Amino acid sequence: MVMKNGYLSGLYIGNALVNFYSTFGKMEDAHQVFDQMPQQDVFSWTSLLLGYTENKEMVRANEIFSKMPLRNEVSWAVMISGFVRGGLYVEALKYFQIMIYDGMVKPNEAIIVSSLSACAHLGALDQGNWINSIIDNNRISRGSNIASALINMYAKCGKVDLASRVFNQTLRRDVLIYTSMITGFSIHGLGNDALLVFNQMLAEDVKPNDVSVLAVLNGCSHSGLVNEGKSIFYIMETKWGIIPKIEHYGCYIDMLSRSGHLESAFETIKKMKMDPDKAIWRALLNGCRIHRDATKAELVINHIGRFYPCIGSSGGEVLISNLYASLGIWEKVEEVRKMMIGSSSSPGCSWIEVNGIMNEFRVGDALHPQMYEIRRELVEILKRLSEEQGYIATTTLVSFDVNEEEKEEAVAWHSEKLAIAFGLMSTPSGSSIRIVKNLRTCEDCHFVLKAISKVFSREIVVRDRTRFHTFTSGKCSCKDYW
Ligand code: ZN
Ligand code: ZN
Repeated sequence: MVMKNGYLSGLYIGNALVNFYSTFGKMEDAHQVFDQMPQQDVFSWTSLLLGYTENKEMVRANEIFSKMPLRNEVSWAVMISGFVRGGLYVEALKYFQIMIYDGMVKPNEAIIVSSLSACAHLGALDQGNWINSIIDNNRISRGSNIASALINMYAKCGKVDLASRVFNQTLRRDVLIYTSMITGFSIHGLGNDALLVFNQMLAEDVKPNDVSVLAVLNGCSHSGLVNEGKSIFYIMETKWGIIPKIEHYGCYIDMLSRSGHLESAFETIKKMKMDPDKAIWRALLNGCRIHRDATKAELVINHIGRFYPCIGSSGGEVLISNLYASLGIWEKVEEVRKMMIGSSSSPGCSWIEVNGIMNEFRVGDALHPQMYEIRRELVEILKRLSEEQGYIATTTLVSFDVNEEEKEEAVAWHSEKLAIAFGLMSTPSGSSIRIVKNLRTCEDCHFVLKAISKVFSREIVVRDRTRFHTFTSGKCSCKDYW
C-alpha cells in the first residue's frame, strides 16, 4: 500500500489515486486520499474537481473550486466545460465572467468553445458577442473549433447572417465548420442555403459525416426540398459510407410525410434495418393528419399495435390520441387518454436575455424574483388578446406531441408565455424579443406569440427544440408548419 505513517507517499502516487477514484465515481475515496496528501498541486485539485463535475456533484465541484489556491487554464476549463456538460449554462457563463474579470488567466480554446456553446444553448447573443471580442482582443487564433463554435453560437442566437459572415471569413474549412453552417441554415428553414453549402463542401472534396448529412436532410425537410433530400438519402451509404442511423430515418420519414408521400414513408419504415422509434411513427401520423388521410392513419395505428405494442404503453398514446382528435373520432380519444394517466413528462424551460442577464423560466414556476409582476402582466396580455384577437386558451389539445411534454392544465403558464410577458415589461417598446425554449412550442403558445407580435408591434424570435420561429405582424416564419 502506498500509505506511509498514515500519509500518502509522493505527490505523483497521490494524484494517480485521486484520479483513479474520480474516474470510477468513488468521490468519497478520492476526497479522502486528497485530504491525506501532505501537499496538493494543481493536478490534484483538477482531478478532484473533474471527478465531482463528471459525477454531476456540481455544488460540491463549486466549493472545491473556491478553495483552490491555484487557478489556472486547466481548472477553469474543467469547471466551465463541466457546467456545460451538466446543462448548467447560466452557471458556465457566470464563471466565465468571473474568470475574465479576475484577469489572472487568459482563456484558452477549450474555455472559449465551452462558453460559446453555453451561449448557443441559451441564445445569449450579447454574451456571445462579448466572447467574440475577447477572442480578438486576446489574439486567440480562430482554429476550426473556435470558428465552428462561433458559427453555431450566432446561428442558434438567431443571427444566421453573422454566422455566415464567420463562415465566409474562415479560409480553411473542414467538415466541422461546414456542418455548423449547414445546421445553422437548416434550423432557420433556409434549406436552399443549406444545400448550397453542402454542395460547396462536396466540391471542395471535404467528405461529409453523419452529422452533416443529417443537417442537410433537416434543411431539405423544413423547406420541402423533397427530391434533393431523397437523392442525398439514397447515396449517403454507397457514396460516403455513412450508414443511416435512426435520426436520418426520422428526418427522411418526416420529409416524405409532410410532403404527402405517405405510402412511400410507410414502406421505408417497414424496410428499416432497426426498430422505428416513436418520433418516426409520430412523423408519419403527423403527415396523415396534415393530409387528412384517415384510412392511412388507421392502417398505421393498426400496424403499430400489431408489431410494436410497447410503443402504445410508453407515451406513444399521445400521438395516437391526438391523431384521433384531429380526425374528430372523440370516443377513441377518450379511450386512449384513459390509458395515459401516469405518463411521464419533462419540464418545459425558456430563457430570455435582457440587458445581458439571462432569465430562466420553467412551466408554472415561482422562482423568478419578479414572478408576481410577471404573472399579473401575463394575465393582462391574455385578456387583451382575447378582446382584440379573439384568443381562447386551447383546452382541447389537438396538436401533436405536446401533452407528452407539458401538462395541458398549465397551458397559461407555459414557460415561453412567462418569458414573453417578462420580455414585454422589461424591454423598450418596439424592440425585438428573443426567447429560447427547450421543447417544441405548443399550438396555444404559438397562437399567443403570433397575436402578441401584432397587438404589441414586436418582432419575436423563438428558438424551440427543432427550429426558429420569427413572429411579425401576427404571422410566423414557419407558416404554422412545425
Ligand atoms: Zn405552450
Ligand atoms: Zn412558428
